[in-house]
Formats: sequence, C-alpha cells, structure tokens
Amino acid sequence: MKLLFASDLDQTLIYSRNSMGENITEIDLVEVERINGKPQSYMTKKSQKALWELGTSAFFLPVTTRTQEQYERVTGIFENPVAPRFAVISNGAVILEDGEPVKEWSEEIREQCVSRKTVIEELLPLIERYFSEEWVLNIKQADGWFVYLIIDRTQFPEEKLEFYARLFREIGWAMSLQGRKLYFMPESITKARAMEYVKQRLNADYVMAAGDSLLDLDLLESADKGFLAVHGEAVKSKAAFSAHIQITERSGIEAGEEILAHVAETALQHRLSRRSTHGSTASGSRENVGSGKNRGMAE
Ligand SMILES: [Mg+2]
Repeated sequence: MKLLFASDLDQTLIYSRNSMGENITEIDLVEVERINGKPQSYMTKKSQKALWELGTSAFFLPVTTRTQEQYERVTGIFENPVAPRFAVISNGAVILEDGEPVKEWSEEIREQCVSRKTVIEELLPLIERYFSEEWVLNIKQADGWFVYLIIDRTQFPEEKLEFYARLFREIGWAMSLQGRKLYFMPESITKARAMEYVKQRLNADYVMAAGDSLLDLDLLESADKGFLAVHGEAVKSKAAFSAHIQITERSGIEAGEEILAHVAETALQHRLSRRSTHGSTASGSRENVGSGKNRGMAE
C-alpha cells in the first residue's frame, strides 16, 4: 500500500506571524521560509519533526497556490536539501518533477483555459469593471495562470462576496478569499486534478489530503481522507463537504500539528497492517529502497 499525503502549505502546514494564532511559545517555532533575509513562515518543531519522520511511510506532496518562485522559498518542509520528486504549484496549473515543470501537463491546462476562455486577458476587463473600488490595493497575475487582488479587509464588503462568487463562477472562475488575497482561479486549474496525476505516476493507492481554503476542497474531496483546518475559509464559508473530511479541533499553527499527528498515525497503522500481511522482513526491505526519504516512494 502506497500512501500519499497531499497537503496545502499556507495556513495548513506553515504559518506567518499573523496567522499562527496566539499563545505560541517562541521556543516551539521553527522558521521554514525567508523573504529578503527576513523570516516569513513557521511550523512548530513538533510539526516539522512529524513531517520529516513521515519519511518513506508516506510520500509527501506539497499542493500549493504559490508560484514556483514563492514555493521554492519554503525550504524548511524538507529534511533533504534535494528537491522533492513532485510538487503541485500554481494551484495545479504546474507540476514540478525533480524541480522542473512537467511541460505536457501545463500545456494541456493552458489549452483548456484558452478553449473555455478562462484566461487572464478575458478576466482583467471584468475585474476592472467590478472592482475599481478603494479596497482593491493591487492586482497581481500569477505566472499568467490566475489573478489575485490584494485587498484592504477592513473596507472589503464581505456581504457582497457570495454575489461576486456566483457571478464569476458562471463564466468559469472560482473565487477564494484568503487573508488579504482575493483569488480568481480558472475552473480548469484545480489541485485535485494535479494530485490525481501524481498519484498515478507514483502508483499510490491511498491519499490523505489537508487544506484550509475553498481552493483546497476539491483536493480533499478526491482524497480517501481529508483534514480541514478549522480556522480557514472553507469552514467559515460553511461550504458542504463529504464525511471523509474531518475538521481540526485546534486552530492556527496547532491545527498543522494536529493534522500531521493524524497523518503519522495513519501511516503507522498502514505500515503495521502491511507487516502483519507480508511479514516484517519483506515489507521492511521494500520500504528502504532509494536513498532520499521521499524518493523511497518512487515508482
Ligand atoms: Mg492555505
């Protein structure tokens, strides 16, 4: 049995000072990302240890809306300085294999976006029409795939969010509000699709997934087991989801710790059941194939 742990990063596994919650002891934190020399994101030491210790018992697949440049800053999630075998970035528009984008994958996604007219050039005039308000601080394009607005949350009319979401959904764009960022994502770009591709490539047969936002829900739905951080947009928006998706009890950076504890526990259970089925020697030797921790799960 090959396990895949496909997880969102921001506000699921890693946290900024603003999003980690209160009463966090400094000594429990470990820095996992730096911007211009300044610490930006953190995990708890316990979380990092649990993630690293997953080792060969589950393949860790980061599944993030970050672009490649933003993703590559997050060095603290891997024990090895070597690039992990796979990562899903730009919300699923790009899959990195050994640090390089899988060309055919992104070409296919691009074709679908073009044929459905969900490309940035079509979206920008609409954004300008609907969002020329003072709470829009900046309009950003992510590597030509999608758009997000940097907004002033204190001025943002939350009551209009559902109206906007419906409007844009009708023309093929999913909206997601995460902190100061309001995302517009083409419907062809989903985390679930990219995860399914990696799952097939790895021949994995059980998927655990974790996330916090509306952009994570499809990923969690297509997994065998899902963990949804209680503090996130998905729980707050009261979106409907299936019974295999569990909401964390703890919030902030401690939700990350809780998710990783569940994942480690499941990985252990699967290991034990495999041992009892195949005998410890056989399964033990198979698990240790490959030198890098994540690479041990290669095809
Ligand atoms: Mg997130």
